[in-house]
Amino acid sequence: MFLCQHCLPRPIPAEEVHHEIPVNTDPSRRLDLTNLNSLCKTCHSRITAMQHPLRKVCL
Ligand SMILES: [Zn+2]
Repeated sequence: MFLCQHCLPRPIPAEEVHHEIPVNTDPSRRLDLTNLNSLCKTCHSRITAMQHPLRKVCL
């Protein structure tokens, strides 16, 4: 099981995967593990809103 990297050290299960570099910026890093972050829904939506203020969907 993956834990949310942003909630650590609280053990919150990660439900989603976040791409540090958005897939539409660099599609070749879509499956690059160093570009992935496991996050819970709450953290993911917060980070996505910060990085993509005009987008509601994280690609
Ligand atoms: Zn979290």
